[in-house]
Amino acid sequence: MSEVPKACVIGWPARHSRSPLIHGYWLERHGLAGAYTAEDVPEDGLAAFVEGLHEDPWRGCNVTVPHKVAVAGLVDRLDEDAAALAAVNTIWREGNRLVGGNTDGYGFLANLDHLAPGWSDKLDHAVVLGAGGAARALVHGLSRRGARHITVVNRTPARVEELARAIGVAVDAVQWAELPGRLTDADLLVNATSLGMEGKPPLEVDLSPLPGHAVVNDIVYVPLETGLLRQARGRGLRAVDGLGMLLHQAVPGFERWFGVRPEVDETLRARIVSTLGG
Ligand code: NAP
Repeated sequence: MSEVPKACVIGWPARHSRSPLIHGYWLERHGLAGAYTAEDVPEDGLAAFVEGLHEDPWRGCNVTVPHKVAVAGLVDRLDEDAAALAAVNTIWREGNRLVGGNTDGYGFLANLDHLAPGWSDKLDHAVVLGAGGAARALVHGLSRRGARHITVVNRTPARVEELARAIGVAVDAVQWAELPGRLTDADLLVNATSLGMEGKPPLEVDLSPLPGHAVVNDIVYVPLETGLLRQARGRGLRAVDGLGMLLHQAVPGFERWFGVRPEVDETLRARIVSTLGG
């Protein structure tokens, strides 16, 4: 008797992850025989767990905090995005080899493409708030999409230099006090700090210098409607929330494991929104 193909999300802990809901919805939607689970994997069990993914019924997994960097050293090959970011969020099998990919930048771009069509037609200047792991994926994605000039604002300036060096993209590093002057010609403003997230301090940014065509994106999605997005809508700017990034980053993994490219539709979005509270 053959087992159904399996994928999972690994983390420590992984139980809080919404990935089982996302992939479970797609398995059901497409009537596929398959399973997707959340697996709590401690640091000292990581190498053995990843080794086990070479065998059926596993097709691969998603990787979440705190394993994204360590896993990059455990797979047989990295794709171009994971190699650039030195972090893996998706693993799949190619023959008997495990490949590590990173779909965060893809999810970020696909979300904007979906909810703000044409946003990158003229992308002369993008301003990114934050220089953590998520910001790296965003800056890499923006550079690949052809952004001519990227400004990164971060509390700790050394982290911006580290980001630019690690991914090999030239960015303009500025302090928070300089932000208003940098917004006047920005085509895109994106928050990749944890500020504004439930339980964190608020993000205090005055959006009045932004031009009227600018798009504002917050990758924080708890709450879904952050103060930044509320302010942007109040100014009549196009505002894009962060939930779609989470949903779209899941698409390439599902397609590799289960053979069908799934869609991010309103039913899926509504299901996940219902888990966000507030
Ligand atoms: P991270 O690596 O810990 O980076 C956190 C960032 O926030 C850093 O730039 C940090 O600045 C800044 N920050 C934190 N507290 C601050 C404060 N009090 N004042 C000023 N700056 C502060 O986290 P991450 O993994 O990049 O995630 C960042 C956010 O993105 C989180 O809210 C996460 O939930 C969200 N996210 C969303 C998605 C999605 O799919 N929508 C995906 C990934 C992440 P310093 O460098 O100065 O500490």
